Amino acid sequence: MRVTLCDVGPRDGLQNEPDVLAPDARAELVNRLGATGVPRVEAVSFVRDDRVPQMAGAEDVVTAIDRREGTEYAGLVLNLKGYERLRATSLDRVNCTFAATETFNRRNGNMSLEKAREQVGAILGASDLPTTVTVSVAFGCPFEGRVDPGHVAALCDGLEADEVVLADTIGVATPTQVKRLVERVLVPPRYIGVHLHNTRNTGYANALAALAAGARIIDASVGGLGGCPYAPKATGNIATEDLVYLLEREGVETGVDLDALIGVTEWLDGVLGRRLDGYVYRAGNWP
Ligand code: ZN
Repeated sequence: MRVTLCDVGPRDGLQNEPDVLAPDARAELVNRLGATGVPRVEAVSFVRDDRVPQMAGAEDVVTAIDRREGTEYAGLVLNLKGYERLRATSLDRVNCTFAATETFNRRNGNMSLEKAREQVGAILGASDLPTTVTVSVAFGCPFEGRVDPGHVAALCDGLEADEVVLADTIGVATPTQVKRLVERVLVPPRYIGVHLHNTRNTGYANALAALAAGARIIDASVGGLGGCPYAPKATGNIATEDLVYLLEREGVETGVDLDALIGVTEWLDGVLGRRLDGYVYRAGNWP
């Protein structure tokens, strides 16, 4: 079995860091990740600089990417204007997103769920690149609590995307819930992925459950970087290097050189000047 890992550290991770890294440093992270064989990197987000200063200069980041054969470089866009910006760069894939609940869409994007889903539909209609739709708070919402799987499945129906990624944005899901929702929305030929925050330490168990249910894309972030501005205690994504350790030893191919990836995490620990959440880079690989 083979899985496509997407390292969202340069986007979901750095976006939630208090310190703003310059585009060159962010591109260096993308390049270091690509060099480890990570099949996909979410490199940037095309948002307004004043809204998310951590993501300012997305075009400069993309220009400084040393494209590596076998790595796909994706960007997040929130609307058509963001899509146009992405399309003017050399990125390979468009990721767009809406939340599964009314309140999260209003707080996060200042629009209704219906409008947010329409906006995603417009981006999908415009895009001539491969597309991914991430449905955030697909399992639980900081404002509305538990999210009904039937509601999420209905939202996924009719989305003209190559891939749908179910996000546990605040890290509340457990494996059976993940397995059931993946099975429910899995309609070939569309691929299903998961985006798992490890807030309650269920992220790795959820990743295995998602794979067993047929998901073939897993988001993770180097060192476990990340957070959620609307759930202050939400921690980062599952750490890519910890996930690679787990998957490879379970017979799932990732294509990632784990020792090299551990090196990237050690480097990033130095750049950010703090210990990161991942375990494997601290404990080391095991022969
Ligand atoms: Zn996230």
